[in-house]
Amino acid sequence: MSRVLIIGAGGVGRVVAHKCAEDDHTFAHITLASRTRARCEEIRDSVRRRTGREIEIAQVDADDARQTAALLREAKPDVVIHVALPYQDLSIMEACLEVGVPYVDTANYEPPDEAKFEYKWQWAYHDRFRDAGLMALLGSGFDPGVTNVFCAYAKKHLFDHIRTVDILDCNAGDHGRPFATNFNPEINIREITQPGRYWDRGEWKTTAPLAESMEFDFPEVGTQRAYLMYHEELESLSQNLPGLERIRFWMTFSEQYLTHLRVLENVGMTRIDPVRFEGRDIVPIQFLKALLPDPGSLAEDYRGKTSIGCLIEGEKAGESRRVFLYNVTDHAETYREVGAQAVSYTTGVPAATGAKMIASGAWKGAGVFNIEELDPDPFLEALGPAGLPWHIEER
Ligand code: NDP
Repeated sequence: MSRVLIIGAGGVGRVVAHKCAEDDHTFAHITLASRTRARCEEIRDSVRRRTGREIEIAQVDADDARQTAALLREAKPDVVIHVALPYQDLSIMEACLEVGVPYVDTANYEPPDEAKFEYKWQWAYHDRFRDAGLMALLGSGFDPGVTNVFCAYAKKHLFDHIRTVDILDCNAGDHGRPFATNFNPEINIREITQPGRYWDRGEWKTTAPLAESMEFDFPEVGTQRAYLMYHEELESLSQNLPGLERIRFWMTFSEQYLTHLRVLENVGMTRIDPVRFEGRDIVPIQFLKALLPDPGSLAEDYRGKTSIGCLIEGEKAGESRRVFLYNVTDHAETYREVGAQAVSYTTGVPAATGAKMIASGAWKGAGVFNIEELDPDPFLEALGPAGLPWHIEER
């Protein structure tokens, strides 16, 4: 029985809190901490109503490693699940090292003033975590996260040799707003407006942002247009799947979403550098975030499904094979269950599952690991019962 500290009380933090509370066999004690205490209180009350469990709450500025370490000393967790923002990855990793606690996150570290989507800053912590005998688990969300575990599972059970991987992420949901992002707007818009990039025979190929697209028949939602983008898991998977020839990432967007994005970009509203305005500096994308709906607030009216998976091609026993490993999640169902939309849900369930792997001892290791480096079997066994059933389809 373990103690867990969850940092971040947004859409994903809410799901993680509910999922840890459901798993009383693994998590005997839960603390939820975030920048704004009121958001923790609201989640605490909703967990109490639904599961009857009490969770502790705390206020923390996780940009401050010393403050975070003090919280760790007080909460005494056996594992920290970081679902605040990517800007806090390094300060929370520092605090975990200082106090001696394993670390789990769902997104790579981002420097505030530059969109990078690179693992190098976190990989640099490998030796320190190894020497401390602690595990840091990177990217335990859906993508990165479950998609990486699908690749590890395919490598272990379905293929002798994997040639290509296409990660396909479709949100066919409708929240009824003209323009909104499904998770933190600043991170989401940074990700989408950067150039596309994919890995092909040992080289990175670059494309203009959202310049390439293809149609794909997604399980339970049908044919949708998906756009080639760079996504952080390409960096680790291209290294961790030996013999891989090509890996790409695709995401669907509606025409309406793309039109809004184009206009916002053209007028400079997606810029991440400071602009002088009425005697003070403002960062346009941060101002835009203040105008857009809070992703959590979309949950109530969200209808439709997410359908996300990995299309993997290669050989098994001398025969060519092509499979799609995927999950489908319904926005309205996750709202009924935990008060969150499917994008938060599909991130929060794997974050809680990754922490369960560490807390239960199913995953052991010292150092910094991307999730595909660990045994996919216990994780995928736990994922369906936790709320994300997954399937394999021959294509
Ligand atoms: P939200 O913006 O809804 O929530 C972020 C939370 O973190 C808020 O409660 C916020 O506090 C808190 N926070 C921000 N800064 C600090 C700080 N300095 N100290 C303490 N708390 C802080 O984001 P989401 O819940 O949608 O996303 C959470 C994370 O999940 C993000 O890193 C995102 O990139 C990642 N993600 C990963 C996915 C995957 O599949 N791998 C998919 C979707 C998201 P406040 O309430 O005060 O603003």
